[in-house]
Amino acid sequence: MTGMWQMLGRPLRHWRDHRFTITNSSAYLDGELVAAEHRRVHAHAHACPKCRYLLASLRQTLIGLGGLRRAAPESVVPDVLETLRAADS
Ligand SMILES: [Zn+2]
Repeated sequence: MTGMWQMLGRPLRHWRDHRFTITNSSAYLDGELVAAEHRRVHAHAHACPKCRYLLASLRQTLIGLGGLRRAAPESVVPDVLETLRAADS
């Protein structure tokens, strides 16, 4: 049984970190996460190409918005996340 849990543990942990990273990606880029959460996202993105892509895309979006960001951050970030979620399934 121990062996089975070791086999299951890794993907489950990865999946939970994956959801956490997607959910908190904009907060991560905004530096709004506490240190432990920030490290969790950082470590996961290192191991997960999809989340590296997500964070890179979001970062580009936030940079691209520049001065517009304060006016309409809510409308763009969810769209990007939605697109990436759709691409993921
Ligand atoms: Zn991931």
